[in-house]
Amino acid sequence: MTTIQEFHKKSIEQPDAFWGEEAKSIDWHKPFTQVLDYSRPPFAKWFVGGETNLCYNAVDRHAAKRPNDRALVFISTETDQEIVYSFADLKQEVMRMAAVMQSLGVGKGDRVLVYMPMIAEAMFAMLACARIGAIHSVVFGGFASGSLATRIDDATPKLVVSSDAGMRAGKAVPYKDLLDEAISLAEHKPSKVLMVDRGLDKGFNKVEGRDVDYATLRAQFMDADVPVTWLESSEPSYILYTSGTTGKPKGVQRDTGGYAVALASTLKYIFCGNEGETYFATSDIGWVVGHSYIIYGPLIGGMCTIMYEGTPLRPDPGIWWQIVEKYKVNVMFSAPTAARVLKKHDPAYMHKYDLSSLKHLFLAGEPLDQPTHEWIMGELGLPVIDNYWQTETGWPILSAMPGVEKTEIRFGTPSFPVYGYNLRIFREDGTICDPDEKGIVGIVPPLPPGCLSTVWGDDARFVSTYFSLFREPQVYSSFDWGIKDKDGYHYILGRTDDVINVAGHRLGTREIEEAIQGHSAIAEVAVVGVADQLKGQMPMAFAVVKNADHIATPELVAALEKAVMKKVDESLGAIARPSRVHFVTVLPKTRSGKLLRRSIQALAEGRDPGDLTTIEDPKALEQLQLALGSKT
Ligand code: AMP
Repeated sequence: MTTIQEFHKKSIEQPDAFWGEEAKSIDWHKPFTQVLDYSRPPFAKWFVGGETNLCYNAVDRHAAKRPNDRALVFISTETDQEIVYSFADLKQEVMRMAAVMQSLGVGKGDRVLVYMPMIAEAMFAMLACARIGAIHSVVFGGFASGSLATRIDDATPKLVVSSDAGMRAGKAVPYKDLLDEAISLAEHKPSKVLMVDRGLDKGFNKVEGRDVDYATLRAQFMDADVPVTWLESSEPSYILYTSGTTGKPKGVQRDTGGYAVALASTLKYIFCGNEGETYFATSDIGWVVGHSYIIYGPLIGGMCTIMYEGTPLRPDPGIWWQIVEKYKVNVMFSAPTAARVLKKHDPAYMHKYDLSSLKHLFLAGEPLDQPTHEWIMGELGLPVIDNYWQTETGWPILSAMPGVEKTEIRFGTPSFPVYGYNLRIFREDGTICDPDEKGIVGIVPPLPPGCLSTVWGDDARFVSTYFSLFREPQVYSSFDWGIKDKDGYHYILGRTDDVINVAGHRLGTREIEEAIQGHSAIAEVAVVGVADQLKGQMPMAFAVVKNADHIATPELVAALEKAVMKKVDESLGAIARPSRVHFVTVLPKTRSGKLLRRSIQALAEGRDPGDLTTIEDPKALEQLQLALGSKT
């Protein structure tokens, strides 16, 4: 049997042979002539000249062989719906959606922004885009108008697909109002908005000439037969925005062929999911896990995928396990926060159901703390595998790979570098760390297939953001600290930049600061991520007001704190709302005017603020301590 080390070595030393073999897992309309073109580093082109299509690989090829097999189970515990689609049904629904999009003028290369709740039509829309070569850009439904507007301006979509409302814990979230506000804020105006009306927000606003009703149009294309548009392997399949250190989100651009091959390989080697089996990823389509493992990955592998709208706790904390039993789920994927939420409830909810179909549970998106890892693995009695990856990579960077070798699962570590990733831990001078020495997690390019091919519309930003860690060697920076121990297990120790991770959702502190600065009373603000038992991290804000009158009484302070939180809700969405807004008269900065974020964060977490020799005004620190002491 091949060991993980041998497998990994082959992928790095003989990429053409390794990936050439993996490419056989998908169907190609036209074969590629070259596995890798790396003539313009750090831009990598995989499977050059090959023509394929994500929708064809995810839907058509299975519909042809196994039309009546289950492809999608849509379950909403919010609206009490449960709908099963076979591969034939899925293909037909995707063709209907594709025909509607074409009737609205969408074609190859056009962008389609998808701002939708977790409903089957969101999946149809994404697959329809893939089918006709349009580029989808899904924006997480939890984001509000400000975030949405910046993404509309960057992606310049011809069409937006949306819905009247989503539902969260029994409450309707009015998507259409947020979308209208975003379009009014954005400079780019999409020509059409395709509305999937769920009847949850009866009075939603309809814009004459721009908004069109999906049900009405779908009825005209019931028997639509929309052929697949073949794409060259490197042509873009989608854009997915992610936060960084600047306020402007980056559009991660994904290719087509490389992504399909990479995902297919992960099903075999990491997830151990086979054709005809069932995959349940509890993420949201707005995140990369949703793209890769609610939609494309399982379907490319011929698996049935479960799309779930609801929380892990309603109607009771057994709901996910009930789904596992009912649909004989074989592979499950979730996030550490969800495991921490479940840990607060009686494990009897888990033991009530027959979970014997389940082979593994994968958790990703944020650090998985040791007690939670130990707890859930103990309760489930099966391997719980921590994976480490990023929106940029699209698939795991560090993971156990039970499909290659069953290695020991250790708590607190996502195990080993996945094949294709030439991962190293670097010192800040570009040399490589010794075992157990903390450094920056970097990947020696070329990045493997399926990783971001560039930043949408901005090749220079791709290079300057990700490949400028050192002058030499050119290395992809993950912006995470890490350690490799003597046994080769890797540990991730948090971000090197100002990105925070709230319940697996990545947020830039700069974006939150910009939203808060939009409040007329605020002069200056610093936002830091503070450790939180349930969500991993929570943003906390420290703000300087323009006029002390704004905070003259405790009532005014409370009112302003509330108003600032509301500003964040409106601009970015409630996920970015700070846990507290503390008011101070001065923020700790260096003499050159740089915010001492690490010190602020340390103080907020009750730790030592570290080296303060460069601080401009030591009073700032006392103020911070006072604010924290009196209000936390
Ligand atoms: P995102 O692009 O939103 O998926 O966020 C990626 C970031 O989340 C990484 O750069 C890490 O900081 C963090 N992350 C993801 N998975 C893990 C994990 N298994 N352990 C620790 N941190 C993780």
